[in-house]
Amino acid sequence: MGINSSSPVTRRIFLGLKVIQHRGQEAAGIAVGNGLKIDHFKGGGLVHEVFDTKRLETLKGNVGIGHIRYSTTGMKTADEAHPILATTSKGDIAVCHNGELVNVKSMREGVEKDASEWGSDTEFVVRILAKELETAPGPLRAISRTLARVKGAYSLVILIGDKLFAARDPHAIRPLCLGKMEDGYVVASETPVLDLLEAEFVRDVKAGEIVEVGKKIARSFEMPRNKYTAHCMFEYVYFSRPDNCLDGSLVYDVRRRIGETLAKEHKIKADVVIPVPDSGRAHAAGYSMESGTPFVEGLIKNRFVERTFILPEQKEREMGVLLKMNPVKSLVEDKRVVLVDDSIIRGTTMTRIIGNLRRAGAKEVHIRIGCPPIRHPCYLGIDMKTREQFIANGRKVNQIGKKIGADSLGYLSIKGLIKAIALPEDRLCLGCLTGEYPVEVDGEKLRRQEKLEGFS
Ligand code: SF4
Repeated sequence: MGINSSSPVTRRIFLGLKVIQHRGQEAAGIAVGNGLKIDHFKGGGLVHEVFDTKRLETLKGNVGIGHIRYSTTGMKTADEAHPILATTSKGDIAVCHNGELVNVKSMREGVEKDASEWGSDTEFVVRILAKELETAPGPLRAISRTLARVKGAYSLVILIGDKLFAARDPHAIRPLCLGKMEDGYVVASETPVLDLLEAEFVRDVKAGEIVEVGKKIARSFEMPRNKYTAHCMFEYVYFSRPDNCLDGSLVYDVRRRIGETLAKEHKIKADVVIPVPDSGRAHAAGYSMESGTPFVEGLIKNRFVERTFILPEQKEREMGVLLKMNPVKSLVEDKRVVLVDDSIIRGTTMTRIIGNLRRAGAKEVHIRIGCPPIRHPCYLGIDMKTREQFIANGRKVNQIGKKIGADSLGYLSIKGLIKAIALPEDRLCLGCLTGEYPVEVDGEKLRRQEKLEGFS
């Protein structure tokens, strides 16, 4: 996120980052601009572990950016926390990046001199931008020249001295929205940040757009863009907060519609519908409404255990599953249970939950999943990197059901998912479901050949 304001921004960035803490738990960082100089602090851990009041007071400025890290490439250490910084003759620069670039390897192999020493994909953006700033006629041109050379998923906030910019890749894969406050502008990955800051939602940053975010005005510049967007379907299914309004659709409503569709696609006679908390709650509410089966909170979540899916190490993830939730015996004993969750990745969490429900006395456990089977990796900002990790890889649905120990298993169809998101198929990325990606990835199928159009 980033803020440009006529009053100090550091505390507001700190609070905003807490709102989107679910997007990354490995590291946090804030940078503020003062003239040509940028001050920053970053470190490993949750936002409130990295920043205390004293630390926040050392960062003074009316323009700044902040980031919480969830790594998909590079090292899973605090060293690669954002913002990533560089010094140029035109002033300091700092960049925060949500997403993942796909052409780092080709840039490293000789296209960019010195690139063999560069670390994460975001460091490529920073290094190229630092070079472009030395020769380009102004920061905007430097940013557009930089972005013309990188490919993949990126929502960026960029500080160049005390100037703030935001940019979204030509497919708008990751989210980014713009809000107007009384004393300035804010850009953030999710709209609940705007709600917290009492900012009025202006709009989503468009595909292939750079926005110069001023204190009084936000000016738009368009880069080459694609005819079709490719918003990540997984943001709707799992990753975003349910109260986020994402590219025109409220995520909670999408998840509720997913649940309704699941109930139509996979009917079963049952006594109760139970969500896997918290990720399956809205899906289960929709399923319950459509099927008429009572919704009960049959699994109690330990609120102090982080989301297992984005804990960085497998061992930690497994421990997280054991700590995470416990069945309520009186709600499941002798019942036919429909258990609803957003998605299945490895299947380890689901297998354990089913086992726990049976131990608590459930008569039948039927699994309903609000996302079609994930069988292909994501190269665009979600940490799902190998086909081998997916339980659905090489297995039919009935085989998966057997493996996790379910009485029946039903996945939402791709058609049902698209309908629930309420955007046309050619505006969504479905790469991890179909194996066809919106950008060229080595060894993978391209969804369609596209030509970038429109350049100013
Ligand atoms: S491949 Fe899947 S997770 Fe990755 S951007 Fe596309 S839809 Fe999202």
